[in-house]
Amino acid sequence: MPQERSCTVCEDEQCSAKNRRPGERAEDFITRQDIAARMCQIKRKLVILSGKGGVGKSTVAVNLATSLALAGKKVGLLDIDVHGPSIPKLLGIEKVFVTGSGSCLDPVVAHRMKVMSIGLLLRDQDEAIIWRGPMKSNAIKQFLKDVEWGELDYLVIDSPPGTGDEPMTVIQLIEGQASAIIVTTPQDLAIQDVRRSIRFCKELRLPIQGVIENMSGFVCPSCGEHTSIFKTGGGRRMAQKLGVPFLKSIPIDPLVADSGDTGTPVTLGYKDSEISKIFEQAVLSIDKHGFWTNSKHTPAKEEEQKIKIAIPVAEGALCLHFGHCEQFALFDVDPDKKTIQGKQILKPPHHEPGVLPQWLKEQGADVIITGGMGERARSLFSQNNITVVVGAPAEDPEQVVNAYLGGSLKTGANVCDNSSVHP
Ligand code: ADP
Repeated sequence: MPQERSCTVCEDEQCSAKNRRPGERAEDFITRQDIAARMCQIKRKLVILSGKGGVGKSTVAVNLATSLALAGKKVGLLDIDVHGPSIPKLLGIEKVFVTGSGSCLDPVVAHRMKVMSIGLLLRDQDEAIIWRGPMKSNAIKQFLKDVEWGELDYLVIDSPPGTGDEPMTVIQLIEGQASAIIVTTPQDLAIQDVRRSIRFCKELRLPIQGVIENMSGFVCPSCGEHTSIFKTGGGRRMAQKLGVPFLKSIPIDPLVADSGDTGTPVTLGYKDSEISKIFEQAVLSIDKHGFWTNSKHTPAKEEEQKIKIAIPVAEGALCLHFGHCEQFALFDVDPDKKTIQGKQILKPPHHEPGVLPQWLKEQGADVIITGGMGERARSLFSQNNITVVVGAPAEDPEQVVNAYLGGSLKTGANVCDNSSVHP
């Protein structure tokens, strides 16, 4: 039985890791404290997100991290893409293996950064990893609590594309200490993905540092002429409309692709190039502006987004066992004004596996708040772009929604973390 103990890193009485939460298992509390003890030695955590793959998210993560290191910051780079870790290749460290003692792992030091990636723990980089949700979440927990990050100015976290388990897990484990950078390309189609990423951040109350538009035109290396291969400026317009900062446009540059193949980031290999200067400016702006909090979002009127929150209900209260509920209460809420604007009570269809996530998607749900949910169901909701909040108390659904909107919802353990409950 793990021993409950108190965190000794700081004296901050307000720290969420100070006290065990109601219903929290002793081992979960200890893990939460261990993560907090590591994370509170890192000043800023930047989660790099993108709506889809191939937009250059990992390339941007690596070059932002390198630029920060070149600017004299102490930097860590964490790759939480367990299915397709690309950071070791981008840094030319695929053949390097992680060492450590006891349960601690030493990060690999490359190009002045401390680096950790699942790719550095695999013997064969091409090994296909078939990992279910709980294994992914355990690996991410280990990266946060067992890696000897030490004191850092920045931890840059490269997450897989989309709004799935990995970014959600890391954001929830860091508990309100991170901010996001969203990478996109300029086409209209990609802009839909940015919209989704912004909504994901808002739902998880993750402040958005800004949007970076990558592959934004091509600058001819001979004559310097700028050619818009895709339509440009879409990312900037979208950022303006949704009231989030626009950080930088990064053009397509053959040096970037070349550096990706040689394993030396362009910002290090071609320090004086135009593209390196662009990354430097982006980093300056990130470093200077500090955090952008979601409460400061001021979307233009026509872009105001209402969200729908679903609560499983039994006997008038939130139903802890999500698969056994009698009804769903669906609340229309304004996340910016933090108000409920409408409510609907619906009888769900028969609980067959996979039916509820699809049905709730059809009802327009963006978030589901429940007591517990198995990993399989969580993953199905995530595929339907519905954010899952677990560990909520069996209280009046309206109170739960108001607490969620006000940021005071107390969540404990996932009370039925198994796959036997039908999603
Ligand atoms: P993601 O992480 O979004 O899947 P990657 O960072 O792996 O994308 O980039 C995909 C490909 O695009 C890589 O080959 C990379 O070298 C290339 N790339 C990314 N950004 C640029 C750029 N600005 N100019 C040229 N090539 C780029």
